[in-house]
Amino acid sequence: MNLIKEKIEKLKKERNAVILAHYYEPLEIQQIADIVGDSLELARKSKNTDADVLVFCGVSFMGESAALLCPDKKVLLPAPNAGCYMADTITPDDVIKLKNKHPDSAVVCYINSTAATKAVSDICCTSSNAVKVVRSLKEDSVIFIPDKNLGAYVASKVTDKQFYFHPNGCCPIHDKLSAKDVEACKALHPDAEILVHPECSAEVCKMADFIGSTSQIIDYSKDSACGEFIICTEQGVTERMAMLMPEKKFYIPSEKQLFCDSMKAITLKMVASTLENMSGEVIVDSALREAALKPIERMLAL
Ligand code: SF4
Repeated sequence: MNLIKEKIEKLKKERNAVILAHYYEPLEIQQIADIVGDSLELARKSKNTDADVLVFCGVSFMGESAALLCPDKKVLLPAPNAGCYMADTITPDDVIKLKNKHPDSAVVCYINSTAATKAVSDICCTSSNAVKVVRSLKEDSVIFIPDKNLGAYVASKVTDKQFYFHPNGCCPIHDKLSAKDVEACKALHPDAEILVHPECSAEVCKMADFIGSTSQIIDYSKDSACGEFIICTEQGVTERMAMLMPEKKFYIPSEKQLFCDSMKAITLKMVASTLENMSGEVIVDSALREAALKPIERMLAL
């Protein structure tokens, strides 16, 4: 073990801390994490750990969600300024305008959003449970925010409800991946299955052999008899799959466009410094916490 990893291990014990990392983090961060997962797994597991300190290797909305769920723990972000482009595509005012326009609709808010946006929503969802969440609602219409691509995917599965979207809401990393990129990759690897995250555009989703969240994509590739895959989501997932399944082949359809620089902002040095200085604490105001927690807890109760 190198010096920086030893230092992190020592500080973790001293602080009674655990390190959580999203699948989009650099592989070296995933490798030192105690818990690696997608948004839903990280939200659930942060709640259940008995550590005093959570070092959250992800973007700011993830740290906020952990702080909302675990008010008795200190949540530290090694890169507190690393935000999510998708979360920033919508404001609470935008949501209120949509609610005024469609007053009988339920507001379903993807977890990739700020606490302020969650606070004006009815229920949260993740990419792994979005269809289940929407099916659970009694309302006949849904305002699905912020991701119009995930919303369109859910709408294709839940055809008995009316959907309304925010026109600018999407993840630019997933949205920019084009059908042409995927076609070019498939031409090079004709036997590979195409696995797609629902944050991708409808034209890319149409080409998929399987559509699912990052965890579902990983599980699918483990169970599939196929030996090669084109992975249409952030490349951290592809790197993790290649590490977990060295006997299978994984291809990134577009290296330039599947790289989230916010998710790649954290280094081992930053994790060590966060633990050493107990810096980057996420503080959520109590009124905001009360309002933003309700839609998350409603989702977790499902
Ligand atoms: S990959 Fe997209 S949704 Fe995920 S953190 Fe980056 S900008 Fe946000």
